[in-house]
Formats: sequence, structure tokens, C-alpha cells
Amino acid sequence: MQAIEKLRFLSEDQVRQIAQEFGTPVFVYSQLELEKKADMALQFPNAFGLTVRYAMKSNPNASILKLLKKKGIQIDASSEHEVKRAILAGFSPTEIMLTSQELAKDFAKFVESGVFFNACSLHQLEEFGKKFPGKSLSLRFNPGLGSGHTKKTDVGGTASAFGIWHEKIEEAKSLISKYGLKVEKIHTHIGSGSDPEVWKAVAHHTLEIAEQFPTATIVNLGGGYKVGRMLGEKSTDMQTIGSPVKELFSKFADRTGRKLHLEIEPGTFLIALAGSLLTTVDDKIDTGSKGFTFLKLDTGMDANTRPSLYGAKHPLVTVKKNPTNGLPTQEVVVVGHCCESGDLFTQKEGGEAETRPMVQAEIGDYVVMEAVGAYCAGMSTKNYNSFPETPEVLITLDQRPKLIRKKQTLEQIIQCEISLESY
Ligand SMILES: *Cc1c(COP(=O)(O)O)cnc(C)c1O
Repeated sequence: MQAIEKLRFLSEDQVRQIAQEFGTPVFVYSQLELEKKADMALQFPNAFGLTVRYAMKSNPNASILKLLKKKGIQIDASSEHEVKRAILAGFSPTEIMLTSQELAKDFAKFVESGVFFNACSLHQLEEFGKKFPGKSLSLRFNPGLGSGHTKKTDVGGTASAFGIWHEKIEEAKSLISKYGLKVEKIHTHIGSGSDPEVWKAVAHHTLEIAEQFPTATIVNLGGGYKVGRMLGEKSTDMQTIGSPVKELFSKFADRTGRKLHLEIEPGTFLIALAGSLLTTVDDKIDTGSKGFTFLKLDTGMDANTRPSLYGAKHPLVTVKKNPTNGLPTQEVVVVGHCCESGDLFTQKEGGEAETRPMVQAEIGDYVVMEAVGAYCAGMSTKNYNSFPETPEVLITLDQRPKLIRKKQTLEQIIQCEISLESY
């Protein structure tokens, strides 16, 4: 039988207190957990210097961004809108690198202000060259291999549209010389994994590419450091995966005389385990002796889409409304509150319902969904069924929960709509 999951950084009393003070559903983040991970990332093994960039798409709340800025972490932005948000949170444009799938509509404005541009395709490279002949930039390559915890998070290999395909280096080089550009950085980001061999292979391929661009002084290996969300799943140990990478950089320097600065861009690693979602059991339903027992939570895919998108699993922990000991466990299917059959928190990849053993929960009890710091509040089917955006709370180092996002109002949900007077 599957293990019963436990609370990560909250105590049962804290769950009850926060639920009462802020209502449910509510995201709760831990400053302490976030800072611990930031310190680990900042100690990533490196031979000739390190810059850590936060992949802010994983959780773009300003209070989170500011906390990481205080730690000396810079920004990986995935769109022009993220660039603007990082600047509003206090980052200077020079602390931001823009790596976007869609060429930012006003990328020239950002580049002029000091944002560093990472060309993710030959088209982006050409557009940059036309605007800024002679300027420095970064090139993102797809090194031809990838790894991800699911096919949908794999961003390297032939089935991925991210980056310049590694066999097109010559085309990239001719655009570089056509516009007199200077390649200062080589970037790869292939998806998630905790296998040291994969990281070594990626670093190796990336260095091979860097070797072909003699002006490059920085190599950025992207993000994708896997964390274990469920009991028994392994988290990436940065020292373990970083040591062979450091060695490759040293050997590269011995061979070429070039001491490359390392950059990494963790998102998940920094924030995933530092967030919990507090919810209340809204209903309990069963479908007979051959069916299932369902717990229906007061949250859904509008707050965490990962289960319906990837079949991702998050720990679900019962916290009784009133402290009770010695309760039996029960196999349940946990569903969200959206009118959508895919809004299932316990599902297999492919969407089929599966049960999860939990301490028996009844209507009115709390269920804490763990490991929801990354790609939940910031990446969801927001406002589906017109549910408001979920409020967010940060537990600061003095253990006090502070609101860092208010619950959205109905007025805010509809504020951009134009209600026609006549047709
Ligand atoms: C999303 C992204 C990351 C972060 O990925 P994680 O899996 O959250 O670590 C880093 N770099 C780039 C370019 C990204 O798009």
C-alpha cells in the first residue's frame, strides 16, 4: 500500500489557525524553506563563478521575487510580461535575461534598457541582429537530448521546439557574422531530472557548443532540477549533480584556456516544496460497493492544474478540524470543485481515477495539498467556473503568516469585459 503522506513545513495547529484566519483555499509559502533552497542553489559546484537565476514563471509573486533578490539571485524571464513584473518587484533590467518562446513584441525596448537577450531560434537571432548589429547576446540551443518527468515537460530533443537545433550551428554562425554579433553566452535547458549522468551529458554537449563560439564567457545550463514531491521520490542533490559538471568546466579551461562562468536557472527546485495549499473538504460522495469514495475539495484545477495537465501527483494530507487521534485510513479519490471531469487530484497519467490512502476525512475537515509552490498559483486554469484566484500567504522567518496576495473579487474577474448596451 502507498504511504500516508505527512505535512511538510506546517504543523496541524498552524493549518487550523491559517485556515481560520484567511479562509480556504489558501496557498501558504515558507520563507525558511525557500531560503534553504536558495542557499543550496547558490552553493552549486562551479569552477569559475556562478550566477543563479530564478525561473520566475514557476511562481511570480512579488514577495517571492523580492525575497530571492535579497539572496542575490537574478531572473530568468519567459516573456516580456515577466520582465515587467520583475522590474516592478525591484530587479534592475541588467539582472534579467529574457528567454521567450514568442519573440517579445517590444524586445528592443527591453534590450535598450539592459535586459539580456537569449535568442531561442534563428528567427529571433535574425530579428535581434537587424535591431542591434554588433551587440552581445546569448544563444539557446536544443542539444538534441532531453529529460523530463513527463513527456510534456521534456524540452530537449527532436520533439521539442525550444532552442536552436544543435545541427543548425552553422546557420547561427552565419547570422552572427552577418550582423557582427557577439555571442557572450550559450544556453541550454532540457527539462527536469535528478540523474547526474544526464546532467553530465548535457553539460558536455553544451560545452561542445560553447567551444564553437570563442567569444562566449558564460554557459547557462537552465533549470529542471527535479524535486521529490511524494514520499519516496528523490530530490536532486545539487552537490552530486554539480561536481562532475564543475570538473568538465575545469577540463575545458585546461584544454582551451577559457574559464567559463556558470549559470543555472532553477524554478521548481527553489519553490516547489516551499508551498502548500490549504483546502476544506466540501463534500464526500460514494458510488456504491463497486465504486469509489470521493472527497471533494473547495479548490480545483483553477488553483493547481498540474494533476489534470500532467497526471502529476501531490501529497494530500488530512488535518481534522478538531484534533483527533487514532483515526483509520481510507482509500479515496480526491476531486476538485470545477465542473470538469478532468479536475481530479488523484489520477494516473492519461486521466483515469485512482485512489489514495488518507487519514479518514469528513466534510469540514482540512486537506493540505503539498509541494504546490511551483507552477500552481502561477500556472492554472484561472477563473474557470468563475472561481476567484486563490489568496497567498507567506510564513516569514518569525513564523507569522502574512498575506501576499488577496483573494480575487468578482469585480476583478470581469473588469476587462465590455458589456454591450445594444446589439
Ligand atoms: C522553465 C524554465 C526553467 C525552470 O525549470 P524548472 O523545471 O522549474 O527548474 C529554467 N530555464 C528556462 C529557460 C525555463 O523555461
